[in-house]
Amino acid sequence: MTPRGVRVMLDAHMTANAPRAQLIHIETDRRLGHEWDEWDGRRLPGNGDFSAPPGLFFRCAALTIGIGMAVGAALIFLLGPRVATLWFALGVASAATWLWFGTLLLSFYGGVLALPEGWLERGPYLRLMSLTSYVSRAFARRDWVEHAAIDVYNALAERRRRRVGKGELLVLIPRCLSKQALDGVLAIAGRYEVPVFVATRGQLARRVIRERRPRAVVAVACERDMMTGLRDVAGRLPVLGLTMRLPNGPCRDAMLDLDVMEQWVKGLVGA
Ligand code: SF4
Repeated sequence: MTPRGVRVMLDAHMTANAPRAQLIHIETDRRLGHEWDEWDGRRLPGNGDFSAPPGLFFRCAALTIGIGMAVGAALIFLLGPRVATLWFALGVASAATWLWFGTLLLSFYGGVLALPEGWLERGPYLRLMSLTSYVSRAFARRDWVEHAAIDVYNALAERRRRRVGKGELLVLIPRCLSKQALDGVLAIAGRYEVPVFVATRGQLARRVIRERRPRAVVAVACERDMMTGLRDVAGRLPVLGLTMRLPNGPCRDAMLDLDVMEQWVKGLVGA
């Protein structure tokens, strides 16, 4: 399938009397995001629904940590096998990493937040998510593992019960939403009086964030784009990331769970 051009223009604004996000014009031709460059035009597995249980991520993450330790040991073996401090440092790093991983499991499955967010979902977890994504590609399970990783991230981030003012929350959506999904997002944005922006590229999303200076973001994207966005932004700013279903392939007519979006927006603005 030959990607064709797309133009999306959205004016999300609020007036004093009628807070309302308004769609001016949208054309829905497909232009692939670079994350989908290798897409062959065939239907995506599961009709573009990559839902997966959290355990898939945790298994793959444990494997990733194990690979990291093995690479470290191999390097020491090659570069300085007799340097005891290197082996000691690896042992300490290994123990600390597995301890942290155990705390992550406890936090997720035990329902407690055992560490501050900078040491958990907005800290080392973001790096682990990215590394695990690379490992999962070797097994052709990338999208499912990323979906599970994002679910785990959201579950932890949501438990922080953060509250911000209406003007301090930003909703970022991609250019590929179906009309139905877009209408739903705009209705939610209007209902809770929060600004919504279409971020056609990651660079633009970062610029909007820089200029608007929100105190929290609800972002919508496919798993691949969300991973990059979380890695770049979540360390500095609280983000909840809503992934989509892609029944018509990537970058076009994406669907999302509007109930979850409303629940997040409502929870964040304390309405
Ligand atoms: S968010 Fe949408 S437009 Fe962006 S890469 Fe994913 S599917 Fe494509």
